[in-house]
Amino acid sequence: MPLEIGIDIGTSNTIICSKDNVILDEPSVVAISELDGTVVAVGSEAKEMLGRTHKNLCAITPVKEGVIANFDTTTSMLKAFVKKATKNSFLRPVVVMAIPACVTEVEKRAIKEAGMSAGAKKVYLIEEPMAAAIGAGIEVSRPVGSMIVDIGGGVTEIAVISLGGIVVSDSVKVAGNRFDEDIIAYMKRKYNLSLGAITAEEVKVQIGSACPMKDELRMEVHGRDSVSGLPKNVSVDSSEIREAISESLEMIIDGIKAVLEKTPPELAADIYETGIVLSGGGATLRGLGMLINKNIDIPVYIAEEPMHCVALGTGRAASNAKEMKNIFLGE
Ligand code: ADP
Ligand code: MG
Repeated sequence: MPLEIGIDIGTSNTIICSKDNVILDEPSVVAISELDGTVVAVGSEAKEMLGRTHKNLCAITPVKEGVIANFDTTTSMLKAFVKKATKNSFLRPVVVMAIPACVTEVEKRAIKEAGMSAGAKKVYLIEEPMAAAIGAGIEVSRPVGSMIVDIGGGVTEIAVISLGGIVVSDSVKVAGNRFDEDIIAYMKRKYNLSLGAITAEEVKVQIGSACPMKDELRMEVHGRDSVSGLPKNVSVDSSEIREAISESLEMIIDGIKAVLEKTPPELAADIYETGIVLSGGGATLRGLGMLINKNIDIPVYIAEEPMHCVALGTGRAASNAKEMKNIFLGE
């Protein structure tokens, strides 16, 4: 039974780790009864209900752009997840929670409170890029500059880390979910095809790419004709999806450039050597590393287990809470 756990509440997924193991990985979704406001389901079960709910049930994603948008629902979700991950243990765990680098004091307190009401004995907060870097295997306390770019669902966080601290950081509100929205808009414009968010995400995962491919991928997309309202299928290829998401990709690259420009020269020189590490689900988009490398002449590496980096970092920090004290955010 884990007594120290790390939690990453993302816009898309919530992941709980104990040391180096993922012990829970579920969508950040809660299904609520509209009749009495009770929580009907959380996580995977609730996500399946998204878009398929009957009229007395609504499925909500309580975390928006990495920040808690709905406190009560987030707390209920977290309670259910912690209970599941700790197998209903009555012992209260020490919890390390990752938070976006630029949240306000009020938001920090809200996240901490959510952790305490979910049953934690003590909650430590760590900045998400720091957790991502630890989870990606970067030695964050060395006196060497490293750059981590975490591309999640709602936000891309870009940070330069050295000596156990974040030296420069910025976040861009363009990440994986924006790609889905771009695909929806493109398909509507070009083919009068209306798509749901889940289908758009499938298209991105199956054929999305950031760079031209030797053999472009193609798939049949099922949607609804936006004029007649009838079901319709369209065959699209990866070059079209690339065109759809190109502006969003450019915004992420501009964000990285802006952070590099603000980075002190010695640390920038380190990054030119050590490279940029990508984490988050968005980092799994085909060819993204290559595109960034083409635009910014620095080596780019995709972290191992990109979607778990932040959570693994919190898990590791939780099991070494005493030694890691200086990287947690102040009380
Ligand atoms: P968050 O931390 O915001 O919860 P994640 O790091 O879990 O986000 O990343 C979620 C995003 O990654 C979603 O937009 C999802 O569509 C995207 N994603 C997941 N797998 C892939 C893939 N194979 N290709 C492209 N995008 C992906
Ligand atoms: Mg994340």
